[in-house]
Amino acid sequence: MNKRKILVTSALPYANGSIHLGHLVEYIQTDIWVRFQKMQGHEVHYVCADDTHGTPIMLRAEQEGITPKQLIERVWHEHKADFDGFHVGFDNYYTTDSPENQEFCEDIYRQLEAKGLIAKRSVEQFYDPVKQMFLPDRYIKGECPKCHAKDQYGDSCEACGATYSPINLIDPYSTVSGATPERKASKHHFFRLSDLRCRTFLEKWVFESFEGQSGVTPEVKRRLQPEAANKMNEWLAGGLVDWDISRDAPYFGFPIPGTAGRKFFYVWLDAPVGYFGSFKNYFKQTQRSQAEIDEFLRPGGNTEMMHFIGKDILYFHALFWPAMLEFSGYRTPTQIYAHGFLTVNGQKMSKSRGTFITAESYLTHGLNPEWLRYYYAAKLNDGMEDIDLNFDDFIARVNSDLVGKYINIASRCSGFVTRKFGGALTDAISESNRKWFNQFLFCELGEGDTFLGRHVSIAYFYDRREYGKAIREIMLAADVANQYVDRMKPWELAKNDENYTELHQVCSVALNMFRILTVYLKPVLPKLAAEAEQFLGVDSLTWKDANSQNRLLPDGHQINDYKHLMRRIDSRQIEALIDANKESLQSAAQPSKTEQPVQTMEGNPSIPSSPSENGKEVKIAAAAMVTIDDFARIDLRVAKILNAEHVEGADKLLKLTLDIGLEQRTVFAGIKSAYDPEQLKGRLTIMVANLAPRKMKFGMSEGMVLAAGDENGGPYLLAPDEGAQPGMRVK
Ligand SMILES: [Zn+2]
Repeated sequence: MNKRKILVTSALPYANGSIHLGHLVEYIQTDIWVRFQKMQGHEVHYVCADDTHGTPIMLRAEQEGITPKQLIERVWHEHKADFDGFHVGFDNYYTTDSPENQEFCEDIYRQLEAKGLIAKRSVEQFYDPVKQMFLPDRYIKGECPKCHAKDQYGDSCEACGATYSPINLIDPYSTVSGATPERKASKHHFFRLSDLRCRTFLEKWVFESFEGQSGVTPEVKRRLQPEAANKMNEWLAGGLVDWDISRDAPYFGFPIPGTAGRKFFYVWLDAPVGYFGSFKNYFKQTQRSQAEIDEFLRPGGNTEMMHFIGKDILYFHALFWPAMLEFSGYRTPTQIYAHGFLTVNGQKMSKSRGTFITAESYLTHGLNPEWLRYYYAAKLNDGMEDIDLNFDDFIARVNSDLVGKYINIASRCSGFVTRKFGGALTDAISESNRKWFNQFLFCELGEGDTFLGRHVSIAYFYDRREYGKAIREIMLAADVANQYVDRMKPWELAKNDENYTELHQVCSVALNMFRILTVYLKPVLPKLAAEAEQFLGVDSLTWKDANSQNRLLPDGHQINDYKHLMRRIDSRQIEALIDANKESLQSAAQPSKTEQPVQTMEGNPSIPSSPSENGKEVKIAAAAMVTIDDFARIDLRVAKILNAEHVEGADKLLKLTLDIGLEQRTVFAGIKSAYDPEQLKGRLTIMVANLAPRKMKFGMSEGMVLAAGDENGGPYLLAPDEGAQPGMRVK
């Protein structure tokens, strides 16, 4: 296997708010990938930084009566503590407000200018005459030109959803000073993305494929996921417009060279450059030479650069960033991986529902960060669709997989080894025991080492960011290990001295299986794996420890006393967490750094919607595979709607009383938009009868009725064919 040299980044969190569970999807996703690649023996450098510049930082510092530098210093420590708490193992966590970053920004700017790719044009913008500053759209409010709702933002109306330019607002005012903004012209600096050279380069860069390596073999790779490439195609077809990279003073950022401190780089220019700043700072700290730095940052080096980002910032990373780099003499990204957003219990994170949960509050409520890492891993794939944190599922999965399957093997077998064999394992394994071990390692595919073993497929899935599939494979392996223990019954063998040889073998095989499961889970559960390594008396495990040449620990290998490795989640902890976040997070959301682009003032198209907002662009994502047993856990019943009524104060819900044979259930169903309650009475439908009851604002909902729908229509309630009776099981 060739050793890969990879620079990996996660998007830089903005220094204007706390890290929450939504952010963590990306950091956990990236961290798992990095840990996996390091376990493969590759050279990987994972860098990140706080994103520190821009108007929101400047104004917030002013509100707090501190300097922007004091603010970003404080937030840096908060963010760093959150990431450490979730075991996100950055090799360097830095700041964009750094000398390295400033140097790179200035260099890139000068190179682009020398190539004729910087233009200067006058732009008319709203200006706050009291505060004496130009106002980003986010800081202008007024009456919606369409529905006349008051106090709407300069770019869009929250009441009717209209989007517009701030010049169309009626009676606009500055949210900074309250003054009526004036229109004022100022000279802005643009990166000439509309230049034919940029377009020609991007068309080639986006769609070219190249020889790369996965965890298994060399293979043809692409820069972007198919959904992202489609989006790029659309943007390129729509024509590229120049990008405004400057902001007028006062601004917290880096001054643009040659403007005597009057113009600053827009925060979105210096943010991605911050990846380079952090990397260079890290290599300087570790005494690497300039040549070693250049190997990663200049073209021609035999290195890779991988960016993990959210799908909402694809535009910045896949258009501006590669073009900027290409024409300023730097290397371009090898691949960009975009992920979807997090929903909680099927809905957007919400402060009122208590599901806008900060990383800090999760940790301070005593929840184990590795529970979340495991759950996210089990849900993540290589696509861009959103992932859902469903707390009932979260509890069930962690308790059944990690505690019930994985930890269980060690807790059932270790005691015998410690008490009866002085903590020593044996590798003198009988044929029949070895057969199980082989089955565990090589699935049912074959007998010899030449077949694809599980460790190969699991590695393949990790490398491709198909963590959900990797976890599924790992849990299938854990099932085999548990079947083995169940069948061999060490606790029975232990009752009779004559069976001690067998007992010794069984426990040794089981603990070797546990060791290999630990290898497989280590990228996801680094802390638990370290504790398991300590218990097993082994050095830090790498992927090699799971391959066929290293199957069994040697005869006489000593393990340590088993201490319980992970406890189960108690649903009351989750309730407490949600309650606490309902109380503590009443403050308004902090503005993000992404202003609507100034281009809208000039009538240029604004940034196209992200794929998530344009449902038609997203291919229907197949849900993860389930087994027939998984399906059988869901109790679907024919239900007769005895009564249906409106719910006072609910926009979308109808209250249904359902007859499912022996009992009646009350269900709140989000079908009000499509059904008149009177029509529903007496109809048959299908309900999930064993869904955990949910307490809603309007009462307890004791199940769920099934309906189909997407952005083209619905919901359409499901109904059985004639003859079905209330209470019949659907299977
Ligand atoms: Zn409106």
